[in-house]
Order: sequence, then structure tokens, then C-alpha cells
Amino acid sequence: MSRFPKLLKRKQQVVHLSMELLKFQGILIAGNEDQKRRYLPRLATGEWIAAFCLTEAGSGSDAASIQTRAKLSEDKKTWILNGRKIWISNGGLANLFTVFAKTEVCGNNETIFSN
Ligand SMILES: Cc1cc2nc3c(=O)[nH]c(=O)nc-3n(C[C@H](O)[C@H](O)[C@H](O)COP(=O)(O)OP(=O)(O)OC[C@H]3O[C@@H](n4cnc5c(N)ncnc54)[C@H](O)[C@@H]3O)c2cc1C
Repeated sequence: MSRFPKLLKRKQQVVHLSMELLKFQGILIAGNEDQKRRYLPRLATGEWIAAFCLTEAGSGSDAASIQTRAKLSEDKKTWILNGRKIWISNGGLANLFTVFAKTEVCGNNETIFSN
């Protein structure tokens, strides 16, 4: 019997896994310890579903042209997002969303993150 269907299934599983990883890679790369502890176990077991929100009506592969903005609230505790995203896989059912947005530019072309 051909091994092709078995290999194809394994390949599909690998592709599916890497697609799922992409959706919370931001936490793996740049998340703080608290975020990692709170979210990663739930995502790893499949209890939670994640979404990767980059694409906008006027911005696809050119990620730098996104129009969505993130502004820090006055008490500096939350980020206020303004913008629209489209074609987001799991968008209607995800528990955790990684949303790409531009922050304010402060002084020497630094973002708010570098302050
Ligand atoms: C099934 C599906 C699921 C999706 N899920 C998600 C998701 O979960 N999250 C998300 O954020 N987005 C998602 N998307 C959107 C997807 O990531 C975008 O379609 C992708 O970013 C391409 O953007 P675009 O369609 O606007 O094409 P464009 O960016 O307009 O590109 C159109 C064509 O031009 C080419 N091109 C672009 N720039 C250049 C260049 N500088 N030089 C040469 N060629 C160029 C591209 O290769 C492409 O062939 C999904 C899309 C589909 C179809």
C-alpha cells in the first residue's frame, strides 16, 4: 500500500501546527513572563484558540502600510485599538488575538515601546 496518504496527513498536521504557532508567536518572541504563563499552556493544549490579525483592506503583504493605531490609555494600563482587519482565520471564535497596530512616534522616531 502507498505511504503517500500517511505522509500527506503528517505534512498537513505539520502545516496546521506551524499555522497555529504563527498565531501566538508574538507571545513566544516578545511576551513577558506573566503573558507566557497565562496564555501559552491554554493555547498549547487547544483549550484556547488564537488569531493573527495583520491584514487590512488596504494592506496585505506590505505590513508596514497598516492603518490600525494603538494608543496607550491615560492611566497607561491598556492599549486602545482603532482600525479594521479582514480575512482573519479564527477571527469569529478565537480567545486570544495578536493585533498588529502602529503606536505613536515619540521624539527621535522611537515608538512608545522604547521609552
Ligand atoms: C484563507 C486565508 C486565510 C487568511 N488568514 C489570515 C489571518 O489569519 N490573518 C491575517 O492577517 N491575514 C490572513 N489572510 C490574508 C493574507 O495574509 C493576505 O491575503 C496576504 O497578506 C496577501 O495580501 P493581499 O491579498 O492584500 O495581497 P497583496 O499584498 O495585494 O499582494 C498581491 C500580489 O502581489 C504580490 N506582491 C505584493 N507585494 C509585492 C512586491 N513588493 N513585489 C512583488 N510582488 C508583490 C504578492 O505576492 C501577491 O501575489 C488570509 C487569507 C486567506 C486567503
